[in-house]
Amino acid sequence: MKAYHKINFYKPGLNSLCSTMSGDETIYSGIRPLGFHPGNMIVLSVYPHLVAENLQNQGKKPRFSYIITMNDIEPARYDFERFIPLDTSVSFKEDISITEKTIRKALTHMLDDFPEINVSFVKSSSFQSSDKFSDVADILINHKEKFAKSYIKPEYLDGKTYNDMHFIGIICDDCHSPLLSTSYNNALFEAYCESCDKQVSGIASEMNFWLYYVNLISMKLSILQPDIVLLGGDYIQTPDERIKSLTKANPLGSIMNFYDWLGGRSLNFLLGPLLIGEDGRKMSKEFNNIQDLSYEDVFSFCKSQCSREVRFLK
Ligand SMILES: [Zn+2]
Repeated sequence: MKAYHKINFYKPGLNSLCSTMSGDETIYSGIRPLGFHPGNMIVLSVYPHLVAENLQNQGKKPRFSYIITMNDIEPARYDFERFIPLDTSVSFKEDISITEKTIRKALTHMLDDFPEINVSFVKSSSFQSSDKFSDVADILINHKEKFAKSYIKPEYLDGKTYNDMHFIGIICDDCHSPLLSTSYNNALFEAYCESCDKQVSGIASEMNFWLYYVNLISMKLSILQPDIVLLGGDYIQTPDERIKSLTKANPLGSIMNFYDWLGGRSLNFLLGPLLIGEDGRKMSKEFNNIQDLSYEDVFSFCKSQCSREVRFLK
């Protein structure tokens, strides 16, 4: 039977979702841990805090279990047109513990108010030894054509070879390059590193990997089976933000599609709003438009904003 997923949008969605909650749920969120700015703060700390406050206002006890996954195996840079990693994984690029510390600090506001909430941090690499990781590796390496055809529009695939597209692979232990020649057979991963001129092989738990974000999120959800999935508003895109080559209009559609492929129960999504910088674009390190905003300011304006895009005006 096909799972039926529900999407709750922004503050109105948060309110209606909370009316159905008991307070004991498991809530999921995740981050590519390359720093933490006010835009990330909305989804990772302000929205769970607003959920807790809403529950309390209804006379319920917020005692949820909140799991934050640190996406250390995503490539630090990726070519979304050619489907090729352009850099090593986040784990070799950044000290993840610094990002974790910053997130923990932002969460103290919620935990001071609601000490019964249980927060845990999980590295995405810790899922490498799971059966689902093997399933994902098998699909993305040995059935790549089937995945690519469901994910990328046929007209975009014309004249391209699946062998030139990459969604998962080994990271070389020595030079930390993503190895495009990764194969997977009988539980053994193998690849050749040209820079180091050596053959690399091993089972999943012994190796370092990179994994494409759509498959990574779907895999994590399929393993964790949370009650509520918190994601940023950019997982649903406006027509001019959409990537034309993909079969699904939105990243969330692709994630749900691959999740259904892996198997799991129906999911309940809560989308947080996008924080817009002073230049009118999404606040991001990439656009160099990060404002220094206090937790209190972000929290109080998110409380009153109902739309996908929120902008902080001084
Ligand atoms: Zn190497």
